[in-house]
Amino acid sequence: MYPSRFNYESPKTIEEAIALLTKGNGEAKILAGGMSLIPMMKLRFASPEMLVDINNIPDLNYHRADADGTFHIGALCRHSDLEKSSILAQHQPTLAATAPLVADPIVRNRGTFVGSVCHADPQGDWASAMIALDGMIVAQGPKGRRTIAVRDFVTGPFQNVLASNEIAIEAIIPATKGIRFGGYLKLERRIGDFATAGVAVALELSGASVIRAGIGLTGVGSSTVNATDAAQSLVGSPLTSEAIERAADLAAQAAQPRSDHRGSAAYKKQVVRTFVVRILTEINSTKTKAA
Ligand SMILES: Cc1cc2nc3c(=O)[nH]c(=O)nc-3n(C[C@H](O)[C@H](O)[C@H](O)COP(=O)(O)OP(=O)(O)OC[C@H]3O[C@@H](n4cnc5c(N)ncnc54)[C@H](O)[C@@H]3O)c2cc1C
Repeated sequence: MYPSRFNYESPKTIEEAIALLTKGNGEAKILAGGMSLIPMMKLRFASPEMLVDINNIPDLNYHRADADGTFHIGALCRHSDLEKSSILAQHQPTLAATAPLVADPIVRNRGTFVGSVCHADPQGDWASAMIALDGMIVAQGPKGRRTIAVRDFVTGPFQNVLASNEIAIEAIIPATKGIRFGGYLKLERRIGDFATAGVAVALELSGASVIRAGIGLTGVGSSTVNATDAAQSLVGSPLTSEAIERAADLAAQAAQPRSDHRGSAAYKKQVVRTFVVRILTEINSTKTKAA
């Protein structure tokens, strides 16, 4: 199917893009990688009157680790940039484990990290990693910039808190106080498919003790699930097998999947439980080898 008729604009600055979005008065949409928006337009789930293509705005395609320990991902950083990134592999184990599991190579070449978080698909892989990492989105609108925690950013399936004339400029992952460990596991029916269920884990350890934990779940709720009780249960003690089993049980309880063509709700909960055990057990053995 063809999309409805729309106007196309290609601003050269963020300010110009914001002015166009303001003019669009809620009927304009930002085009980043187009890997979600274009299919939605073709299916007529979205019919914006104007597309504001941000691909010609310079200096938005970056990712970097700053000296203060924060990690920054610009609005035009593609999934594939992150997949190939040695800086990401060095600093962000949860994101590095997620990158090769997002969609397929064609989509990864074009789709953006920030666009994926903005799209707020309950089956989006990056949102779970960002929830686990307590990540943030920096948005710019006519009144300037604001920083929003990803846990408050998504308001429902395919919905976020951005005003219609705000642009997400970058994602920020906060600095750690301890040593960072993490992982992401995803069950997909075939390579490139959306998740039947996925689990992102981000831990900070000081010695043997967990000092911060985050667990995000993909595809098992109407939005990305923030498994706070499961994560909190890990904090303050070492990663014993009892602690791992308890966190896995709590994560499975937090999951609210629906039975569908990808599997039954009970099966998806079991996948979540198994993945939490696998990721935490792997972290435990990596940590022991490194010590
Ligand atoms: C075949 C296929 C398989 C896929 N499989 C997966 C998968 O397994 N896992 C997964 O996570 N994703 C998957 N995706 C989605 C893919 O990851 C998209 O790239 C991603 O969801 C959106 O990024 P984008 O840059 O393409 O955004 P676009 O499609 O350009 O935009 C998506 C939405 O976000 C908004 N937006 C984009 N950038 C900004 C910004 N900077 N500020 C404000 N709003 C913005 C747009 O207006 C639009 O509403 C798949 C897509 C396809 C086509």
